[in-house]
Amino acid sequence: MTKGNGRLAIVAGGAGFLGSHLCDLLLADGWRVVCIDSFRTGRRDNLRHLEREPRFDMLEWDIIVPPAAKDARRLRPAAIFNLACAASPPHYQSDPEHTMLTSVMGTRNLLRMAENAGARFLLASTSEVYGDPDVHPQVETYCGNVNPTGPRACYDEGKRSAETLTFDFLRTGRADSRVARIFNTYGPRMRPDDGRVVSNVVTQALAGRPVTVYGDGTQTRSFCFVSDLVEGLATLMNHPDPTLGPVNLGNPAEMTVRELVDRVVALTGAEARIVAAPLPVDDPRRRRPDIGKARRMLGWEPRVGLDAGLRATIDWFAAEPDRLVVPEPHRRRPHANGNGTDATKHA
Ligand code: UDP
Repeated sequence: MTKGNGRLAIVAGGAGFLGSHLCDLLLADGWRVVCIDSFRTGRRDNLRHLEREPRFDMLEWDIIVPPAAKDARRLRPAAIFNLACAASPPHYQSDPEHTMLTSVMGTRNLLRMAENAGARFLLASTSEVYGDPDVHPQVETYCGNVNPTGPRACYDEGKRSAETLTFDFLRTGRADSRVARIFNTYGPRMRPDDGRVVSNVVTQALAGRPVTVYGDGTQTRSFCFVSDLVEGLATLMNHPDPTLGPVNLGNPAEMTVRELVDRVVALTGAEARIVAAPLPVDDPRRRRPDIGKARRMLGWEPRVGLDAGLRATIDWFAAEPDRLVVPEPHRRRPHANGNGTDATKHA
């Protein structure tokens, strides 16, 4: 499956940040692509450039519900990528029930579609399955430290259940499935109201607003540029052996949030005021992928350095004034020193 050769790939969540870049990559690799999206967090703008692409189609469908019979009959994909889920903490926490069901019911609906079509299936899982990890860096054999009752649980436990379903379909021979555990990723087409650190800080600095550091900024993350990440997804799907188990995809270059913020501000050239904001509940203290398995088994590793990736991201946000417009914070995000009802400002 190195090249698409005109075969059909479905990208669920294809109008989102990662999904839209994956659609581009697959089309460049010779696939036909159908993007499935509920457009709850995905955006048509991310796919506007594909409107006249004859090998591309879009289907509005929330994967929580089973596919319409006509779609189930019509779509005979060779590959299904499941990237459909709100992924930034403020978005996935704004409707936790929907988030959980997207991972559980949505993954089941797509796995059944893969089973019926004999398609390969790839689940976009997450580093969040490791929770607030006590093993560092996080290796795939580590089972994680997730708080099952906290505000992040709808996403973390949802994805853990989605992994369970995916491996059950594999074990029982129902679908040739793979699982990628995606670590923090950034780049063009992030939503300005995504609420994540890179999009927040870039939009804040460019718009001359105060830049928010949650907590004391000593928590760490490892940031991967989007082109590297989607290449990893395609490589994992193309791998002939489905018994790899979960594979971490991310950039192992770890830094504190404060270091990242300082770097973004320096690259924008802005004179930004940095302000402290409350640390969200269950915010992981440290996160860094062990990508030894991806290196060994897939021959994959990230290639884009932080400065190059941040420059591309900053240029994209700066290219159109609309991209800096963040609606008033309208979502509540519980934070560590509150009772779970205070709003954390995201921009
Ligand atoms: N963060 C921050 N300022 C912001 C947004 C996030 O300091 O404006 C912090 C957040 O508390 C976390 C890290 O940056 O420690 C990464 O957060 P993000 O929401 O991007 O992703 P997460 O890794 O938490 O899913």
